[in-house]
Amino acid sequence: MKRRNFLTSGALNTLALGFGLSGLAKPNLNLSSSSKSRTKKSKASGPVAICTWEFTQANATAGKLLDEGYNALDAVIQGVAVEEENIKNTTVGKGGSPDREGNVTLDACVMDHTGNCGAVMCVEDITHVAALARKVMEDTPHVILAGEGAKEFALNSGFEAENLLTEASEKAWKEWLKESKYQPIINIENHDTIGMLALDAKGNISGACTTSGLAYKMKGRVGDSPIIGSGLFIDNAIGGAVATGMGEEVIKTVGSFLIVELMRNGMSPQEACEEAVRRIVTTNPNHVNFQVAYIAINKEGETGCYCIHPGFKMMKYEKGANNPIVAGSYLQKN
Ligand code: ASP
Repeated sequence: MKRRNFLTSGALNTLALGFGLSGLAKPNLNLSSSSKSRTKKSKASGPVAICTWEFTQANATAGKLLDEGYNALDAVIQGVAVEEENIKNTTVGKGGSPDREGNVTLDACVMDHTGNCGAVMCVEDITHVAALARKVMEDTPHVILAGEGAKEFALNSGFEAENLLTEASEKAWKEWLKESKYQPIINIENHDTIGMLALDAKGNISGACTTSGLAYKMKGRVGDSPIIGSGLFIDNAIGGAVATGMGEEVIKTVGSFLIVELMRNGMSPQEACEEAVRRIVTTNPNHVNFQVAYIAINKEGETGCYCIHPGFKMMKYEKGANNPIVAGSYLQKN
C-alpha cells in the first residue's frame, strides 16, 4: 500500500483515538522515570516535534508526550515506534520491505542532548530497533551493534523476536523477483525512513531515525539511517538534523552533521538544509534519479526542511497542533 493511502487508513485512525499514556501503553518502551516529572519551560520555544514524511500519528504521539512533560528522547522513541509497528508501512520496522534475498533487516539510531548516541544495523526479527539503539547507548560501552550481535543483545534485553516479513511484503518481493530490477523510485514507498527530532520543555533536543532501508537492497547493505552524523546528528547547544532518501548520498556528504555545523556557523535550519542538499546535487549529476531530504531544528525551536525532488513533506507538532509542511525542493527552485 502506498504511504499516502495507509496514512488515512482505518488502522491509524483507530490508533489516533487513544492519546494519553494509556493510549501509548503499547509498545511499552520504558520511558525513563526521571523524565516523568513535569519540567519547567526554558527560554526555548519548545516543545516541538518534527519528523520526515507525513507520519502524522507518529509525530503527534511524540508531540503529545512532550506536552505531558516527557523528555525529548522518550518522545522520539515512542513516536517512531508507531511506524515501526505499523505493518502497512513497508519502509520501517515490521512489514518493511526485505532485501533481495527476502530478509527484512532494520537500521536505527538515537542521539540525546548529552551527545550520547547508540545505533543498530542490519538487525533481523526485532521490531522496535530505535528503542534497541537506545539500549545500546544506555547499557553497553559501545555505540553500534550489528547483525546477529545486535539481535542477541535485543533478546537478552527483553525484546521479543518476531517475523518481520508480512504476507504483503513477501508477495511484493516475489513479484519483484520476477524481474529483479533494482531501481529505488523517487518518493515512492520503497524507501521512506522515519527520522524524528524533538525539543522538549527543558529546551533539550534528541532524535531518532529508523528504517528498513532500501527495498530489495543487497544482503548486508546498510544506509545512512543508523550512522551518527549522516542519518542523524544532535548538538544540544545548536540543534539537530535527520535525513531520508538515498542513504549512500547522505553518507558521502555526512549530511546531518553538516547541517548542524552550518547552523553553528549562523545559518537557520532552513538555510542549512538547503546547503546540505546543494552539496549533493552539485557534486553528483545523477541526482535527478534519487531523492534526499533533510529536516532540522535549532535550539530556539525554529525548523527547516528541504529536498532534491518535489514531493517531500515534514510533519511539525507545535503548540498542541500537528501540521504537514511541504518542503521546497532543489529541482523546483533551480
Ligand atoms: N535513508 C534510507 C536508507 O538509505 C532510506 C530512506 O530514507 O528512504 O536506508
